[in-house]
Amino acid sequence: MILVLKKDTSPRQEAQLTAYLAELGLTAARQLCQGKPVLLLSGQADRVDAGILLSLPMVESVLPLADPLPLASRRRHPADTVVQVGDVSIGGGHFCLMAGPCTVESEAQLLSIARSVQSAGAQILRGGAYKPRTSPYAFAGLGEEGLRLLAEAGREFQLPTVSEVTDAALLPQFEEIDILQVGARNMQNYTLLQALGRQPKPVLLKRGLAATYEEWLASAEYILREGNPHVILCERGIRSYQSGTRATLDLAAIPVMQGLTHLPVLVDPSHASGAADWIPALGRAAIAAGAGGLMVEVHTNPAQALSDGEQALLPQDFARLAADARKIWGLLHP
Ligand code: PEP
Ligand code: MN
Repeated sequence: MILVLKKDTSPRQEAQLTAYLAELGLTAARQLCQGKPVLLLSGQADRVDAGILLSLPMVESVLPLADPLPLASRRRHPADTVVQVGDVSIGGGHFCLMAGPCTVESEAQLLSIARSVQSAGAQILRGGAYKPRTSPYAFAGLGEEGLRLLAEAGREFQLPTVSEVTDAALLPQFEEIDILQVGARNMQNYTLLQALGRQPKPVLLKRGLAATYEEWLASAEYILREGNPHVILCERGIRSYQSGTRATLDLAAIPVMQGLTHLPVLVDPSHASGAADWIPALGRAAIAAGAGGLMVEVHTNPAQALSDGEQALLPQDFARLAADARKIWGLLHP
């Protein structure tokens, strides 16, 4: 259920209303819609008499929740959302290329990769500092030091940065990072999503390993509902029965999600393929299918990489993919 409040409702009246709703067992997420405060109710809203709510002085109208995911759905937001990060626009008619190492390993490693991806046209520098690794014995990133190095490289090359946050308690360490990534394994970590919804930075939400489109969208809704509208989706392959690639890139997710939601949809062909050989083809296919851009792992010395070396593109191969992707983009957006 949605309560549309009168434009002149005071903060005090709103607080009184929220307290009253809480007594009824309802929680309210506040959004501004055409200048009016709107409360999205959750809890057992169907059990509450809409007539009683409508009789409250500050309530203008009571609407049923026609769409189960009203904020993420394209139905009420027909225009594409464009997420702005510095000078870079993500979504709408903008092409976005994010690249960098799987994990920040050292200053020298990161700077050489940052230099190469920037000269190939990448607009956002990626680098993991807190790595969710399948084995507890694997290298899990440099943590805070990795974030510091990433922010420094971003400043040096004037590239906004993106890095994965695995726990809301780590957020203060991400102050200098521009985009907060939610990894596939955390797509349904709802307390993390809520915490990211309560802060202002853009969130790159990767699709879970076995998430349906609706589940993925519901995770985006968790962030939007808390008040952060800057959500970017990233398809990164899902689990299937085949074993030739690390995951199965779901190309259909691109047009389907773009139909369901106004949020930007990017593709990560690196984690989808798990082997450098397949990444250029999947990256090109993703742009041809309408993706708003790519996130690609790059390393100057893949054999020595501390994580995901087998799927790291060499700088020259990334440069070729970047050029091809732009060419395909140009055909679709003349
Ligand atoms: C990553 O991008 O660093 C990553 C771990 O990807 P995913 O969460 O998609 O596995
Ligand atoms: Mn990786």
